[in-house]
Amino acid sequence: MLQSGLDGIPAVNHSSAMRANYKMQRLFVPNDIAAGAAIELDAEQSHYLANVLRMAEGAQLLVFNGRDGEWLARVAARTKKAVRLEAVELTRPQPVASDLLYCFAPLKVGRLDYLVQKAVEMGAGVLQPVITQHTQLAKAGTERLQANAIEAAEQCGILAIPEVRGAQKFAKLLANWDRDRRLIFCDESAETNNPLAALQAIRETRLGLLVGPEGGFSEAERGQLRALPFVTAIPLGPRILRADTAAVAALAVIQATVGDW
Ligand code: SAH
Repeated sequence: MLQSGLDGIPAVNHSSAMRANYKMQRLFVPNDIAAGAAIELDAEQSHYLANVLRMAEGAQLLVFNGRDGEWLARVAARTKKAVRLEAVELTRPQPVASDLLYCFAPLKVGRLDYLVQKAVEMGAGVLQPVITQHTQLAKAGTERLQANAIEAAEQCGILAIPEVRGAQKFAKLLANWDRDRRLIFCDESAETNNPLAALQAIRETRLGLLVGPEGGFSEAERGQLRALPFVTAIPLGPRILRADTAAVAALAVIQATVGDW
């Protein structure tokens, strides 16, 4: 356990598994972080800390920027409009980012927010919107996806913020695919119900996941996917799941068989 550098402030409790501290507020900041560094928050984050969370001077929280690990920080100065933090000590070092590439057809806004947050919680490392034949929404609003990814990271103690890529057409995604990366595709027309055998046969360590849009994959797309040597089709049980549910289910079975669970 690290000793606190400040009198009267208890040290952060570190679990040996380096799982996040769930009791403390965690905030993503764009600033560089180092011991003693002052972190000036922007108006929105200042308002949140000062007026929503009502944090007083001296209050503690955790900050991270996706580069410098997670730090214990304290509120060093506070007015209604501006909050300055001071970084006290490193609580968790910056981990290696997840390499899991999650490819998804953009959904309508509310469901898309949910889909991104849940995928990040489940360990997706790169978010790749894909435009398929039955995709309803051609634009995925990269900034909104990124904001959702950050929110999920704050919530779950994920220190490496997932990368959000620009939307790509289905054909281009496959044409440019790195063949050393296995692409797991959720096939709602698969003949069996159990995905485990197919997942356990995977030898590659680099993985991608592809989930279709609400309208499903077209027959042509399914045919193309099934013919590719780097693709593994998996079923997710006998029920048709909505795309956001399918993503969570697929990520759970992937993490439990060939992932980091
Ligand atoms: N409208 C389509 C269903 C689309 S569900 C139909 O009725 O056939 C959205 C996506 O979630 C699918 O393209 C697939 O990738 C995934 N999915 C949903 N249920 C699934 C299941 N039981 N097995 C595998 N993938 C599934």
